[in-house]
Amino acid sequence: MSKKNPLKRSWAEPFKIKVVEPIRMTTRDHREKAIKEAGYNSFLLKSEDVYIDLLTDSGTNAMSDRQWAGMMVGDEAYAGSKNFYHLEDNVKKYYGMPHFVPTHQGRAAEHIISQILITPGDFVPGNMYFTTTRLHQEMAGATFVDVIIDEAHDPQNEHPFKGNIDLQKLEDFIDKVGAKKIAYVFMAGTVNMAGGQPFSMKNLKEVQAVCEKHGVRLWFDATRACENAFFIQEKEERYQDKTITEILKEMCSCFEGIWVSAKKDLLVNIGGFLATKDEKVYEKARNMVVVYEGLHTYGGLAGRDLEALARGIEEMVEYDHIRARIKQVEYCGVELEKYDIPLVKPFGGHAIFLDAKKILEHIPMNEFPAQTLVAEIYMDSGVRTMERGVVSAGRDAETGEHKYPELELVRMTFPRRVYTQAHIDVTVESVAAIFADRKSIKGLKMVYEPEYLRFFQARFERIV
Ligand SMILES: *Cc1c(COP(=O)(O)O)cnc(C)c1O
Repeated sequence: MSKKNPLKRSWAEPFKIKVVEPIRMTTRDHREKAIKEAGYNSFLLKSEDVYIDLLTDSGTNAMSDRQWAGMMVGDEAYAGSKNFYHLEDNVKKYYGMPHFVPTHQGRAAEHIISQILITPGDFVPGNMYFTTTRLHQEMAGATFVDVIIDEAHDPQNEHPFKGNIDLQKLEDFIDKVGAKKIAYVFMAGTVNMAGGQPFSMKNLKEVQAVCEKHGVRLWFDATRACENAFFIQEKEERYQDKTITEILKEMCSCFEGIWVSAKKDLLVNIGGFLATKDEKVYEKARNMVVVYEGLHTYGGLAGRDLEALARGIEEMVEYDHIRARIKQVEYCGVELEKYDIPLVKPFGGHAIFLDAKKILEHIPMNEFPAQTLVAEIYMDSGVRTMERGVVSAGRDAETGEHKYPELELVRMTFPRRVYTQAHIDVTVESVAAIFADRKSIKGLKMVYEPEYLRFFQARFERIV
């Protein structure tokens, strides 16, 4: 379908369902027990105890019949699998990057690029942090510096491109520490921690100019590049008549290289890669991948996974697909707004974010309002969501105190091509019921805290 639809018809899923996976509705009693056993951490729940799973859109995608057919033509040779070459062709064709190595998922690519580009003591400015990205930058000895525009930290601000970099902040920082101390600048597509917010092509070109002026490398976390491209097409006048494929290619052309978690945009269940125009970086990456992932023609993935990934790239850029994906998320937001539930605006590309700080304003930050809200939603309906706030932010390396981000959010993330509008209606009803009864809710205390990425494994108890 073309983008300009004179009849203004609603979107619908551009597929019909061929295989179904039954899901189970449980009792409130069962769920109270389950979440207690899970230490009030939704990451520790068993998937079988979950009714509608909005924990993450990472690796939870439904593959197409075409991708499943591709799994059957997996070439499981140790070296030089034909599926690798299909994927390599598509990375060139759709991302415009001549050199690439596959990895088993995104963080493996982050590890490799951080080790290659960072010298201990360096700085890495970017448009807000992401958990695994920042951790790998820090483990390589760098300090992450947030140079996103201020609007991104304000959940009510309706700026259309809250993923933009503040050019003044970036310039000032480069002037302060000197270009030599900047390992690279990076931009992420539809910034997760800001609520799935895109950057504009205009901002990207301006950032590119600043980096070129100072001779600083510019890299792209292209995990959600396709969602970002859709927003550019929707919101940026000049791009209305360009295809998603054209926009994606133009975005990528501004960067020296990209890292990707294929578990998001690319419609598969596992995979990732690193791709670049820089031959020297490629040579190092190809060497490191052998140490950490496997030979550079499989990078920790089976041949069949490489094939599903190659075909996923072809499907992710289809307009009807990306439109239905993003409009489904928007539908959830629009329905929740009818109950006046505080949400991050504008609605993001992959998720709706509940403003837990506002919803549970009687719960202090050190009693984890967002973590609490996640547990309450689960107990009410079996819908699994996740925390994006104090628990995710971790502790300050120097003071050992909790980092208190301005955004204390619950993320309801939509797996691609998995749930229907009716699932969303049920979810909205549950959140609305909790919102109506919010004053009676009490917070949590943390009773176990792992050293790294604590949100995955931390345990809590209810405050009575
Ligand atoms: C998921 C994600 C990553 C990490 O990728 P994994 O495949 O989970 O290791 C990095 N950056 C962004 C923006 C992501 O969404």
